Amino acid sequence: MTISAGQTVNKDTLPTDSGRFGQFGGCYVPETLMTALDDLGQEYEKAKQDPDFHLELESYLREFAGRPTGLYFAERLTEELGGAKIYFKREDLLHTGAHKINNAIGQALLARRMGKKRIIAETGAGQHGVATATVCARFGLECVVYMGAVDMDRQRLNVFRMELCGAEVRSVNSGQRTLKDAVNEAMRDWVTNVRDTHYILGSALGAHPYPMMVRDFHRVIGKETRAEILEKEGRLPDEMVACVGGGSNAIGLFFEFLDETDVRLVGVEAGGHGIEPGQHAARFEGGRLGVLQGCKTYILQNEDGQIELTHSVSAGLDYAAIGPEHAYYRDMGRIEYAYATDKEVLDAFQLLCRVEGIIPALESTHALAYVIKRAPKMDTDQIIVMNLSGRGDKDVAQVAKLLGEKV
Ligand SMILES: *Cc1c(COP(=O)(O)O)cnc(C)c1O
Repeated sequence: MTISAGQTVNKDTLPTDSGRFGQFGGCYVPETLMTALDDLGQEYEKAKQDPDFHLELESYLREFAGRPTGLYFAERLTEELGGAKIYFKREDLLHTGAHKINNAIGQALLARRMGKKRIIAETGAGQHGVATATVCARFGLECVVYMGAVDMDRQRLNVFRMELCGAEVRSVNSGQRTLKDAVNEAMRDWVTNVRDTHYILGSALGAHPYPMMVRDFHRVIGKETRAEILEKEGRLPDEMVACVGGGSNAIGLFFEFLDETDVRLVGVEAGGHGIEPGQHAARFEGGRLGVLQGCKTYILQNEDGQIELTHSVSAGLDYAAIGPEHAYYRDMGRIEYAYATDKEVLDAFQLLCRVEGIIPALESTHALAYVIKRAPKMDTDQIIVMNLSGRGDKDVAQVAKLLGEKV
């Protein structure tokens, strides 16, 4: 697909008041949640206008999370690949190991403004759960995290981290007992306890205002990147790349550059074992328009509209729906999408450890696998920026197992 250069991008007017990005997004929830979502949207609009809120948010991002993160020139990887200059935005250096803390802090501050003392969240691999649990500990908020029983089994260490921070992790035994089912349980809890509870959703997904709000809390990634690349190179990059689960780290990086039509933007989905039903999580490869968990977007589903099983080596990309704003920019041709397979990701993971001494999260490694293919095809005076959305400490045991190593 080619970029439609010159196509007007109306990013600052999106979404509409009803949460639409073109035909995508919206608010498909039970009646009982409409008031809560309206209240949240209104409180968020107020907070956005309030300089004190921004000062508070910036202060916690700096002091608690460790912002700003650097834009790092990957000199040895650049040499190794022999093409474009490669830069990493180092979200992996943030507290709790990934970009997710940006959103967790923002929403916890909102919850506090609304006087809500109880927080719920869903988690797949546990990264969003850990970010939420730490933030709740910091602000003295009660925290309940829903997690599929299968995921709890796979991610015991993250379960323990959340518990150390005082969160209660509730095991979900319905459906496939993974992320989608955890979201269902969290929504059920919210319907019941909406008066004193705020739901901190973990990606740019779900019903309005979540996709917008989560995006906005991650826009700091792109804002910093713009200043950093201008300082280092005196110009904007030729291409920017990020992995896409729900789409929060990618839209956080890309948003700032949407109307810079000379900057190519590429999101990378999880190709798993390959593009066969049930074997991947590349919604733009095998997905169709549908509604899941609050919003209209591209979804992996069968002919009857049943949600398909998904697979990825990285739990954080393993979800059947993609954020609605991505669907919008994909259809309009402004953001392009590629995918990386588990095998490519495993190779890319080892290469980065070896040549740069950086252990990347398997999610972020999808973007890296794309960069490894792409950079050699670019000129040496071109620049590619990749969002290194998280660190791979959490993935080391799994990688060892996949490589047949005993640790
Ligand atoms: C959760 C996660 C992702 C995927 O989520 P997005 O909302 O698509 O950003 C990507 N990278 C890391 C490190 C994660 O923990």
